[in-house]
Amino acid sequence: EPMIQVENLCKSFSTKSGTVEAARNISFSIEKGEIFGIIGLSGAGKSTLVRCLNLLERPTSGTIRIKGKNLMELPERKLRKERQNIGMIFQHFNLLMQRTALDNVCFPMEIVGISKKEARKKALEYLKIVGLEEKALSYPSQLSGGQKQRVAIARVLASDPEILLCDEATSALDPQTTKSILELIRKINKEYGITVVVITHEMSVVQEICNRVAVLERGVLVESGTVEELFRSP
Ligand code: ADP
Ligand code: ADP
Repeated sequence: EPMIQVENLCKSFSTKSGTVEAARNISFSIEKGEIFGIIGLSGAGKSTLVRCLNLLERPTSGTIRIKGKNLMELPERKLRKERQNIGMIFQHFNLLMQRTALDNVCFPMEIVGISKKEARKKALEYLKIVGLEEKALSYPSQLSGGQKQRVAIARVLASDPEILLCDEATSALDPQTTKSILELIRKINKEYGITVVVITHEMSVVQEICNRVAVLERGVLVESGTVEELFRSP
């Protein structure tokens, strides 16, 4: 069964000027271990889809299944549990500015009650995996964009999720740094078997790392297939 299965997902918002259909009848599925891209221009509905996938927002209709479990049938309390299985990285990194890199990585482990000592030991290992152990005691303000994203990726590893959602995760980075972050994402996909969903407006990003891609346009999934199928020159 697929890791993520989205079926006929619709999401609409009521506004003063009427109803906005941000997602219209979207269906796709993502297999375990895949790197799946969702690409679209601004306003296509990417953020809306992300908020549905990370279970922060309920679809207006349709279903989302994770490993076969229909999330639409779960109460809020159980959704919170499912959410722990989904790691996220963001365009602006979302690190805690008052905490060192090490303590940022410790954070998800402290939340689940791992002792401070044990958390620090593991956090150092995760920082090593992302190539940043020598910056363990630096604060986010002392790190470059690429280094901040590495801390965020180490923090994701610390929460041991099966799914990683990358929401415009390289959009604030220069091309060279983007390349190295994408390489790191590919590495953790391979080594830890984490299923990766990459949401982006950048063609080059999906071409670089995705196995399959879905194209969103004005809330509609207009095309999906392998990168080769979609971007093959005629
Ligand atoms: P993207 O992330 O691809 O830029 P969004 O999901 O942010 O697209 O937006 C898709 C459409 O839904 C846009 O027209 C946007 O204005 C609208 N939209 C998104 N969120 C809301 C909301 N909370 N209330 C009203 N309209 C929204
Ligand atoms: P992004 O750059 O990630 O697409 P947006 O700027 O589209 O983000 O949206 C930021 C926030 O504003 C989101 O929480 C979204 O739900 C909300 N939003 C987007 N469009 C609208 C809208 N037309 N009306 C109300 N809220 C909106």
